[in-house]
Amino acid sequence: MKRAGLFVVGTDTDVGKTHVATAIVRSLAVTGRRVGVYKPVASGCATADDTAGDAWLLWDAAGKPLAPGDVCPQVFATPIAPHRSARHAGSHVDERLLRTGLDAWLSAADVVVVEGAGGLFSPVGDATLVADLARDFCMPLVIVDAARLGAVGRSLAMCRAARAEGLEVAAVVLSHTTPATGAAHDPASDVAIARDSAADIALRLPTIPVVILEHGATHMPPGVDWAALAGC
Ligand SMILES: [Mg+2]
Repeated sequence: MKRAGLFVVGTDTDVGKTHVATAIVRSLAVTGRRVGVYKPVASGCATADDTAGDAWLLWDAAGKPLAPGDVCPQVFATPIAPHRSARHAGSHVDERLLRTGLDAWLSAADVVVVEGAGGLFSPVGDATLVADLARDFCMPLVIVDAARLGAVGRSLAMCRAARAEGLEVAAVVLSHTTPATGAAHDPASDVAIARDSAADIALRLPTIPVVILEHGATHMPPGVDWAALAGC
C-alpha cells in the first residue's frame, strides 16, 4: 500500500540527511498537516531522548508528536553500523520492529518523513538494508548528498541504483554541511560548485526537483511542493 510519506536516504553517512529531513518536516508542517517522523534505527547516541540525536531533532521539527521513543524505537550507543553497534552492546536489531515501528505514525500523522541510516545500501539489521525498508514502506526517496565536489557523480549513481531496485526517486537535495564560502562568480567556490552541480544533475534528471539546502536553513527553499511529492 502506498503511504503519504518520503524516505530520506543519503549517498553516504554524514551528508546532511537529518538537516534535510527536518527542513522537509517543517515545510510540511506549515501546510497544517500532521507530520510523523520515523528513524527505524540509530547508532551513536545513548537514548532516543538525546537532544543531539537524530530522533530528538526529527521529533522537535515535527512539533513533538508522540514521544522520541516512537520516532526511533531502537537506539544503540556505539557510532558504527546499527547491527554492529547492537552486537557490541550484546543485543541485536529487531528486524520486525524496524518495520512495525512505523505503524504508530500511520494513524497519528497525515504524512510521514522517514530518515534512513547511512546510505541506501547500508545495513540496518543482519538481514536488512535501508533499501529494503524503503521498498517495504512504499515511499518515494529523497536522495541527499553533500553540496561539494563529486555531488553529480554520487547523486546520479545513487539515483540510478535506486531506480534499478525499483524504487521511486522524488527529489535530490544537495545539502551544505558547512557554511558556504567564496563568491558565486568563482567557479571553484562552494556556492558555485553547489549551483553548477545541481544544474548538471537536473539536466540528467529532468522529471524531478533538484534542490540546494543552505547550511543552517530550517525550512526547504520555496518552489517545491513536498506534500505532493509525498503523495498527500
Ligand atoms: Mg541523520
